[in-house]
Amino acid sequence: MDVAEPNDATPFLPKQRTLSALREAAAGCRGCHLWQGATQTVFGEGLKRARVMFVGEQPGDKEDLAGKPFVGPAGKELDKGLEAAGIPRDQAYVTNVVKHFKFEERGRRRIHQTPKRFEIDACRPWLEEELRVVGPEALVLLGATAAKALMGSSFRLTHHRGELLDSEVAPIVTATIHPSAILRQQDDESRYAEREAFADDLRVVAKAIAS
Ligand code: SF4
Repeated sequence: MDVAEPNDATPFLPKQRTLSALREAAAGCRGCHLWQGATQTVFGEGLKRARVMFVGEQPGDKEDLAGKPFVGPAGKELDKGLEAAGIPRDQAYVTNVVKHFKFEERGRRRIHQTPKRFEIDACRPWLEEELRVVGPEALVLLGATAAKALMGSSFRLTHHRGELLDSEVAPIVTATIHPSAILRQQDDESRYAEREAFADDLRVVAKAIAS
């Protein structure tokens, strides 16, 4: 990145900090370079007063085209996990730490690229506002990128997935895999096992909010 390029979404935050005003303002965010290649901003979606908020890494190819988070194959895995855990998706809020799709082009395909720290930092004001406005009882971090963004760079998802974490961000905080990890498994058996483990992690959340 050129040092002269912007690296902070703060100047694009609206005066009025409602979800709809934030979503509208985020559509025009130029806080980092990622807007340039993407189709559109993919802001969070769901209930304004959702009890559970899910935070992933960034929109994927399908989400970039649809302008909605978790509507592609990984979103379908999230839906399966939520159903298994008894958490209605329409009562949750889903979003990402980075609101534009970062990818590299290989032929006609757009291949996901993990966002860098400076891109995550640039986009953080949007997530902070979403957390403030929604004020979820439980926050579920999906994947290492989201977990490190909220819990610190030394956080190890492999050591702490499915645990109730100590954080001031929300009363209940936990981290699990990104549902796209289920899709990356090599065979049906591993996919099934990872899907079950993901549902088990979400059951921890369901149980915590029920108690
Ligand atoms: S990725 Fe975030 S900070 Fe960068 S342009 Fe998009 S909305 Fe703004």
